[in-house]
Order: sequence, then structure tokens, then C-alpha cells
Amino acid sequence: MQLQLKPLNLTATDRRPLLISGPCSAESEEQVLTTAHMLSDSGINIFRAGVWKPRTKPGCFEGHGEKALPWMQQVKAETGMKVATEVATPQHVEAALKAGIDILWIGARTTVNPFAVQELADSLRGTDIPILIKNPINPDLELWIGAIERLNRAGIQRLGVIHRGFSSYDRKLYRYQPMWQIPIELRRRIPDIPIICDPSHMGGRRDLIAPLSQQAMDLGMDGLIIESHCDPDNAWSDAAQQLTPSDLSAMLGSLIIRNETQSTDLIALLRRQIDDIDNQIIEIIARRMRICREIGQYKLEHDMTIFHPQRYSEMIERHEQQGDTLGVDKDFIREIFSIIHHESVREQIEQRNE
Ligand code: PEP
Ligand code: MN
Repeated sequence: MQLQLKPLNLTATDRRPLLISGPCSAESEEQVLTTAHMLSDSGINIFRAGVWKPRTKPGCFEGHGEKALPWMQQVKAETGMKVATEVATPQHVEAALKAGIDILWIGARTTVNPFAVQELADSLRGTDIPILIKNPINPDLELWIGAIERLNRAGIQRLGVIHRGFSSYDRKLYRYQPMWQIPIELRRRIPDIPIICDPSHMGGRRDLIAPLSQQAMDLGMDGLIIESHCDPDNAWSDAAQQLTPSDLSAMLGSLIIRNETQSTDLIALLRRQIDDIDNQIIEIIARRMRICREIGQYKLEHDMTIFHPQRYSEMIERHEQQGDTLGVDKDFIREIFSIIHHESVREQIEQRNE
């Protein structure tokens, strides 16, 4: 489908990088206003705060809802910042529009659901409010593009997307995997839609925000949405990933913003993908080692030997075949797995000696 897009026009210049910051959740009038003033003083023009919070488990703080909207209005009145919040239902849209919220975003848990996105699109018909669409929580580019199309068909033309990473099973370095190839492909498919990176949810950890932000800038992304809180350690949600406004300001000051022609250089893009894949390889090896230790414990408890030649030969043979199918040299596969297997055996021996 041919999209009809207009510039977001969020700030006077929409200069790169577009910066949006504020706490994960609007917790209290004081927390909202204190944080907003600190951010505004350091030059941030767009304030974010979650009023309705989608939470994985019930019983966590689910946002104050409509009660928090006047605090956002106060931010506008006192600082002149534009304000943004997440909407997940037509009721949220109605309340947010009535309160004069300037920018709405659709959360990762909503983008996955075409019914929910369509309801939101229908409720937004006839407005000209900028909407930022977070990637669906699962790595599905078509679903993400589908959401963009639904909003656009409803007449919303000031559209942007937020790349916040993708969920995966098991523990990882990042809370949500960046999978940079997905926003890169989105840029190729829809060159005119601004892409804003959310290193806070992606990293899930304060110390990962700077490197992820730099990476996003090097890939030519248009902006950053970063969680910032006046007292991050005591935040009611996402405490580990929020920066104080002054740490945010220092972090932003250290970013190197290269011009786009240089940053979208093909080799740089490809290297980023390689780095991403290497990172995934290390995480997968770590996962394999954890399972090996569990097996080691089982063998120990059941008085079994560590090395099982039959199992080893079968495994190598299977991997060689799979490598062959995928066009990877068999000898190379054999070598890699013999090293991996050797390390697993070494670990299990060490475990026995402990
Ligand atoms: C958020 O931005 O506060 C949020 C809930 O993000 P996501 O939808 O990416 O999890
Ligand atoms: Mn959050």
C-alpha cells in the first residue's frame, strides 16, 4: 500500500536527533513536574510519561490513568514542552485528546494485536495528532508495517515508529533484542517514516543506554526516546533503566552525531549486523553452557560418566548435515562443535571436582 505521510513536526526544526524523555510512569504530580522541569532546563522539548501502563503481571503499578492527565497539562503550561503518552484503547485516545496531549504512542503489546490497532485507528480518524508506533514485541516486520498502514488508512499522516527491541526466550544481555536488521529493512521499505530508538526498554539497564543510543545514531535513526526520572532508583516501574535528567544530559552530550550519508554507509550497516549476530552467538553459547551444567549435575547424581561417545558422534554428524544444508563447510562445523563440546566436558569435570 502507498502511504501518505507528512513530517512529524514535533519541534520547530525536527532536527536529528529528535529527543523525547521523561519517566516510565507518571507517579505523582510532584514526580512528573520535578522531572519535567529538570529535563526542560537541560534542553529537552518533548516530555513522555506513561499514564496507562501495560504490565506483564497484575499487581504491578498500572498507572494512575485519567487522574494523571492534569499533571501532563501542567507540564505543558509550566515548561512549554510537548507531552506524549501511551494509548491502548479508544477510551485512552478520547481522554488523551480531551486533555490536549500532543503526541500519542502505541505500545509494543498493543501493536501485536491488529484488532486493537484497528480500534485505535478508528478512534483517531479525523484528527491530525502525531502517532508513534512501537514495534510489536515479537520480531515481525509485517505486523509493524500493518499497524502503520492501519493508522495511515484512517487518515493519520504524521506517523513515526519507535524501535524498542524484540522479546526473546531466556536471559540475554539486552532486555529486548535490538535486531537492527528489522528497523533497517523498515527504512528500506518506508524511507520517509522517522525511526526513533528506545534504548531504555531495549537495554533494560542504565549502562546500556549510551552504547545503544550511539549505535542507533550510527545507523542513521532519527531520534531517541529515553526514560528519565528525578529519582530513578525509587521509580515505580522500570527503575533499573531510567537515568536522572543530569545523567541523561551528560550521555546526550557524549553522543557523536555523524551525518547520515556517512552513517548509512553499507559497510557500517553490515558490520552492525555482524556485531549483533556475534552478540547473539555468545548469548546462545552461554545458554548452552548453563544447560550443560544442569546435565553435569544430573550425571553426578546418577553416577553416570561424563563423556558418551555414541551421543557425541551422532551430534556431530547431525550438525555437519545441517551445516551442509545451509551451505556452511562441514569441516568448519565439525571443528566448532568439537571445541564447544570440549568446553562442556571440561566444565562438567570441573563441576565434579568442586
Ligand atoms: C513505555 O514506553 O513505557 C512502554 C511501556 O514501552 P513498550 O511498549 O516498548 O514496552
Ligand atoms: Mn518503561
